[in-house]
Amino acid sequence: MELLEVIMIDRKQTRVIRLGNIPIGGKNPVTIQSMTNTRTEDIPKTLEQIKELTIAGCEIIRVAVPNLESAKAITKLKKQIKMPIIADIHFDHKLALASIEAGVDGLRLNPGNIGSQLNVLKVVDAVREKKIPIRIGVNSGSLSKDCIKKYGVTARGIVESALEHVHILENAGYEEMKISVKASSVPLTIESYRLLSQKVNYPLHLGVTEAGTEFVGTIKSSVGIGTLLAEGIGDTIRVSLTADPVKEITVARNILKALHLRKGLEIISCPTCGRTQINLIELAHEAEKRLAEFKDKDLTIAIMGCVVNGPGEAREADFGIAGGIGEGLLFQKGKIVKKVPENFLLEELVALIRAYVE
Ligand code: SF4
Repeated sequence: MELLEVIMIDRKQTRVIRLGNIPIGGKNPVTIQSMTNTRTEDIPKTLEQIKELTIAGCEIIRVAVPNLESAKAITKLKKQIKMPIIADIHFDHKLALASIEAGVDGLRLNPGNIGSQLNVLKVVDAVREKKIPIRIGVNSGSLSKDCIKKYGVTARGIVESALEHVHILENAGYEEMKISVKASSVPLTIESYRLLSQKVNYPLHLGVTEAGTEFVGTIKSSVGIGTLLAEGIGDTIRVSLTADPVKEITVARNILKALHLRKGLEIISCPTCGRTQINLIELAHEAEKRLAEFKDKDLTIAIMGCVVNGPGEAREADFGIAGGIGEGLLFQKGKIVKKVPENFLLEELVALIRAYVE
């Protein structure tokens, strides 16, 4: 039997850091992150959103910490969830200290933006004992004035600006960090990460910033994050969408699955053509819903539009449907298993897969 060649991405082996119980970098799986959009101190709402994100597959969650109440809320959140929490801090080192005190697992903070060297040392002293990692995050809209003057808003400028923050932490004797260099332009994002990857061995957090609404943002994130991952760059990802954060997780999971960086259910379906004999668009969408129970199984399921070419075209799939007129074929690895009336195709497919995986 012909089999598709499985190509594994040769990932850059970065330094390993730990975010709570999750290792990031090295040979560890690329992790999926998101950020809540509730007021962090609204514990019930924040917990509810984290629960939804957990079910969707989120592994690390970032919360905004714009005030002391939100920093203190981390203690309560930590009691209820297992996922590592990152505090998103801008400018105020006291909020970083309060978050560490509250039991946070990671900080997103640029050390060059929190005032004096003394402030930096206070934060580093507080994170050192627990090895709490810090993400340095520079994006095209937040370059230092010096870097803009010297390099403009270019990949070089973004990377040099990030390195300024990196050197501040290194000079304070702290290396538990990961770095992001996002831009809203996909080519600029890709170029910045490529350059950064050549210069440092810290784990990289990938993302395209301000990517946009669900459809456009999914495409921009998939192209930007996907290109870098395919080149072996990146240790953790956050898809940014102007949408429910749960959608970000769905997109992130699918980017990783598309590159075989994550196992799990893959549903393939044909593009339809003049030979299509069934309402394939509806059938494929319905299949996505009905097959969700197998989302963690390493299976490929094909939903194809005709019985003549469907089973053959999708012979690498573990199971599949080929739609005919009022009925269809169920097939397994290209071989026909049985003929089923159209209305029972999905039901029978689910039964076949259940029998196989159980
Ligand atoms: Fe057309 Fe059949 Fe191929 Fe689908 S499987 S694209 S319907 S030939």
